[in-house]
Amino acid sequence: MRVLLTGGAGYIGSHTAVELLQSGIEVVIADDLSNSSLNAVKRVEAITGKSVVFYLADVSDTAMLRTVFRENRIDAVIHFAGFKAVGESVAKPLKYYRNNLCTTLSLLEVMNENGCGKIVFSSSATVYGDPDTVPLSEDSPVKSGTNPYARTKRMIEQILTDFNAADKGTEVTILRYFNPVGAHPSGMIGENPNGVPNNLMPYITQVAVGKLPKLSIFGSDYPTPDGTCIRDYVHVVDLAKGHMAALNHSAPGVNIYNLGTGKGYSVLEVVDAFERVNGVKIPRVMAPRRAGDVAVCYSSSEKAAAVLGWHAELSMDDMVRDAWNWQIKNPDGYAAE
Ligand code: NAD
Ligand code: UDP
Repeated sequence: MRVLLTGGAGYIGSHTAVELLQSGIEVVIADDLSNSSLNAVKRVEAITGKSVVFYLADVSDTAMLRTVFRENRIDAVIHFAGFKAVGESVAKPLKYYRNNLCTTLSLLEVMNENGCGKIVFSSSATVYGDPDTVPLSEDSPVKSGTNPYARTKRMIEQILTDFNAADKGTEVTILRYFNPVGAHPSGMIGENPNGVPNNLMPYITQVAVGKLPKLSIFGSDYPTPDGTCIRDYVHVVDLAKGHMAALNHSAPGVNIYNLGTGKGYSVLEVVDAFERVNGVKIPRVMAPRRAGDVAVCYSSSEKAAAVLGWHAELSMDDMVRDAWNWQIKNPDGYAAE
């Protein structure tokens, strides 16, 4: 089996590439490196001892994609490519609509031309918006989205549904990730944010390594036991294995799965776990709520367990240990090479 990973040099794509290669699947990556480094691909090859076919390609460029499909018989696609920064999407909505939607449209067109109908898409728990109840199941109401990034995810889910409606033989898998964190246990690949991180775990690791002075905890008056927000953090290696499970499952139609652990942790619980497991102090201050944050969000991952046979195996202790291992071995990310 040969699988195209759009955006495969990125954080989740590189970890998924490792799992695929280790399972004997051939991997082709198309990435424009707009938010990643070729060094991630080289390290995927070093971890696995296998080679990747890499194209420096903008996935919205149909001519380029035609070349990729002409030069490689692609059996399935995992579509990671896109922009993901919520705040930037509010400031630059057109950039987000253009990139996230145009990559998807070009990809589906070229898949159609080549008779490739199996696609796994990186969606997000953000499509559930502010949940009415938790845990969130795949049947929970999907909201219109509180920011352009979230709306692109929802729109792409709809585009994929129409793609399948027009050709019932196609297999569309939508994976709604909860909060991916951590890194490969080798410490060779991990999350490599540009500039100051927006997300909690890379912010914590950069405080721990001394690049940032302290963590601001956004909101301590939420209706949760300790007043801070609760999220469902999932180890990126577990998430990568979820993609393997999705590829191995053959089911025409549109199939949606939550990928989370089913357990919520508060911001303070994550910080405490990081300090306890790694023996590093995280200076922190309580700060006002961040606009758009929901109080509590965690998954029911029963469907993925029942249908795909997938469930998260790694714990919060594994997540904070591996996040720190990556950061301390690569204080400047991939930039040093
Ligand atoms: P990432 O930024 O590390 O990876 C995305 C990759 O896509 C990058 O390598 C980037 O260079 C590439 N890319 C962007 N636009 C491209 C284009 N036009 N052509 C080719 N390549 C392009 O992000 P990630 O965390 O690995 O996320 C992967 C996917 O999962 C994204 O679609 C993201 O929205 C989604 N997702 C991420 C999270 C998260 O918290 N990390 C949560 C839910 C969903
Ligand atoms: N958070 C925080 N300080 C930070 C970054 C994040 O307190 O510097 C909180 C944020 O308010 C949220 C949780 O950590 O409650 C997870 O945030 P992240 O941005 O990682 O994920 P998302 O908002 O997408 O769930």
